[in-house]
Amino acid sequence: MRGFVLTTCLGLAVASAALSARAGETPKAADPEFRLLVLGGHTVRWNVPAAGLPATITYAFLTEPASFPGARNCDAMLAPDAALKRSHVSLEDFRREVRAAFSQWEQAANIVFKEVSSAHDAGILIGADAKSRGRAFTNVALHQGLARAEVKSGPDSIRQSLICLNPDQPWKIGFDGNLNVYDLRFTVTHEIGHAIGLDHPSPEGQLMSFRYVEKSRTLQPGDVAGAVALYGRKGMDAPAMPAKAPSPSPAPSGDRAFGLGANESR
Ligand SMILES: [Zn+2]
Repeated sequence: MRGFVLTTCLGLAVASAALSARAGETPKAADPEFRLLVLGGHTVRWNVPAAGLPATITYAFLTEPASFPGARNCDAMLAPDAALKRSHVSLEDFRREVRAAFSQWEQAANIVFKEVSSAHDAGILIGADAKSRGRAFTNVALHQGLARAEVKSGPDSIRQSLICLNPDQPWKIGFDGNLNVYDLRFTVTHEIGHAIGLDHPSPEGQLMSFRYVEKSRTLQPGDVAGAVALYGRKGMDAPAMPAKAPSPSPAPSGDRAFGLGANESR
């Protein structure tokens, strides 16, 4: 069964003003800046166990082409090698950068990522976009039916997230001041933020902001606050989240895309 699907992206301008939002609270001026993903009027996150146990999410690298009918983007994916070859980045180096990206989120909140070899079993799939669009996209799909009914008193539960990189764009590891070539760790860390339930809070300033800039590739205070709002601090229960988004959502159906086709330069 098809879940609600969200596509979002890095490096594309978003037309509407982004607001910071903290579930259940009115943001204060000094609050760290983050924004929770909202699908169909609901905030979303991966299932959180009780008793302070971390949310555990598996991930895998695609090893062969795969299609995901119903996904807004990343609906046709290739193994990540396709996005690395042109840039002379080895799969080994890419995997190390991805691991570092996941590690940043693990350190920020009560969430753990485990690599699995089978794409079939993975919650987050990483690969290249067979349709070579934009720079990078994340597609978030939610549980529906019974699984959704079970969590109707809380946020909607994420079933699967797809992360795809455009194989026709150049990629690099590290910053060199050339904003036309995106750093893989920055990009993947940003996309993982979407994959776990965060949105763009602003044009710049946080790693979850939507512009590619080369100031820092580590999580900023707003990014950490967003992860904690969803999953709690290490060893602590995840906070209760409102089922409904704190601000009115423009998405009645759950399908929503960000900034597609907008100005790609910074
Ligand atoms: Zn993004």
